[in-house]
Amino acid sequence: MELRDLLDSRIRDVPDWPKPGVVFKDISPMLADPEAFAALVDALAEQCSAAGVDKVVGIEARGFILAAPVAYRAGAGFVPVRKQGKLPCATYAQSYDLEYGSATLEVHQDAFAPGERVLVIDDVLATGGTVAATIDLVRRTGAEVAGVSVLLELGFLPGRAKLAGLLPDESVRSF
Ligand code: AMP
Repeated sequence: MELRDLLDSRIRDVPDWPKPGVVFKDISPMLADPEAFAALVDALAEQCSAAGVDKVVGIEARGFILAAPVAYRAGAGFVPVRKQGKLPCATYAQSYDLEYGSATLEVHQDAFAPGERVLVIDDVLATGGTVAATIDLVRRTGAEVAGVSVLLELGFLPGRAKLAGLLPDESVRSF
């Protein structure tokens, strides 16, 4: 089966979750299927190797699940970007707007050596606020964001426009 069809058969739409009007893309069936999970990790690791990076950033929480095996496969290090208050050492923090309210992400100040090249990974790109805040964080450490990879891009939202050429021309899946 083509990767695209395999993934589509293992990602389920959950209407009106976590709130009315949102169609949540649940990747749990894909993660539970060894063939689909391995094929996805391989596809993302190819993007990672093409970008020639030293470290892969995973965004809490589903970004961790994808970024860690991609880093391992591509021979890169893994760095977590976490929700506020979870990292034990000195951090940079970046707040960003959500539809209702705001959220804050953090990274350890010493997560990267100066000039290291970094790939940012998350599961779903929607408005782009989460990934844009992560890019700001990585840049504040002195590292360079070489690219962004996501499993799913919601093309009807403006995420791609916020990322200034950092996404590949086509994400693994787009809706
Ligand atoms: P955004 O900042 O709007 O691009 O939202 C991206 C973050 O919210 C990612 O970490 C996703 O895991 C999550 N997210 C946003 N929309 C969805 C959706 N429709 N289905 C699943 N996750 C979503």
